[in-house]
Amino acid sequence: MPALTNQRINGIRLWDTLMEIAQIGGTPKGGVKRITLTETDKRGRQVFRSWCEAVGLQVRYDSMGNMFARREGRDPSRAPVLFGSHLDSQPTGGKFDGALGVIAGLEVMRTLHDLDIITDAPLELVNWTDEEGTRFGRAMMGSGVWAGLLKEADIKALKDEDGVTVGEALASIGYEGTTPAAPFPADSLFELHIEQGPILEAEETQIGIVTGAQAQIWYEAIVTGQDSHAGTTPPVARKDALLTAARIIELVNATMREQGDTNIADPGRGTVGRLYVVPNSPNVIPGEVRLTVDFRNPSNARIAEIAETFPLKAEAIAAANGCKLTLRPVFRVPAQPFDPDCVDLVRQAVQKLGFSAREMVSGAGHDAVHTATIIPTAMIFTPCKDGLSHNEEESISPEEAEAGAQVLFEAIVARANRPL
Ligand SMILES: [Zn+2]
Repeated sequence: MPALTNQRINGIRLWDTLMEIAQIGGTPKGGVKRITLTETDKRGRQVFRSWCEAVGLQVRYDSMGNMFARREGRDPSRAPVLFGSHLDSQPTGGKFDGALGVIAGLEVMRTLHDLDIITDAPLELVNWTDEEGTRFGRAMMGSGVWAGLLKEADIKALKDEDGVTVGEALASIGYEGTTPAAPFPADSLFELHIEQGPILEAEETQIGIVTGAQAQIWYEAIVTGQDSHAGTTPPVARKDALLTAARIIELVNATMREQGDTNIADPGRGTVGRLYVVPNSPNVIPGEVRLTVDFRNPSNARIAEIAETFPLKAEAIAAANGCKLTLRPVFRVPAQPFDPDCVDLVRQAVQKLGFSAREMVSGAGHDAVHTATIIPTAMIFTPCKDGLSHNEEESISPEEAEAGAQVLFEAIVARANRPL
């Protein structure tokens, strides 16, 4: 195989197709509402399927509705190189979260078709079911079942607010395939995604070479104090669960900032995103507060350190405020490194194309983080305006989309043609 030169994806066609899919579930504010397993999702899937078939791809879907569009390679004994992302969105989502990876993958397939290039390994473009988790409360469910990390029966029994199960919703849009959602022999997976954070834009960098995903630990906490009268209970007699919770929130924030809080690329995340106050009455000192705590860090050692020190410090705060703290770890995942060879193909593609790039870890969860547990995986990030995502104003430029898709093209072709 001669060195690949002048094989360029069509940036205008890529952009036009991104704008076209964005109309399916398009909102007046310019965003997208294409919630998983709805009629809108179905329309998106149908048009995606027709685009795939127009360039000769064989489209199939498994029992979780994950779609695979296959292009045969020269060597039938080789396992396919997978690439893709997700076409579902948040209720007030943007045009590019997920769609960029799928439509850029389609553009790769179209370019190969136009240039009559057959790769050694087959290629499969993937649209994973329900990455967002917005309807059934479980994110990345399609890739999670496929990778064997989630049980299909459990996931299919999950209900939305109207009591509709995942299984019923899949059947109702006609995307419950007969092939089990389970890993088949696959060579690797590449996912292009918007960064959903501010680093690339702030550093005026075109491409993020993603080396892995962060470690995470989540807690559910209950602070127990004592309900009492706002007008009669003196300071010394108060057991204020909300004040205690506020001080624990400060601790979460301070813990996050320990590794630096001046540079945009400083690691460490710590968030309290949910708070229930009981009895939640204006003139009662709250006797109970329930809250969630979410810590993330690229370093497993740092998460281990937080797991050791945070509970002790939080309990000390509760005790000092006359309250009791129950802290339950509900979720913990180690950092998930991506495959060094696949990451290196992304690095080589960036160098060959002359793009500016930085290595980074993914702050968010992605389908690729699931596949990385069983097959060689890598991700490519492109900048997004103001780091904004899960928002109707999410925005990228045509040039940014084109650069990301071109890197995806190079990495996939190199991987599919590598000598075994
Ligand atoms: Zn996404």
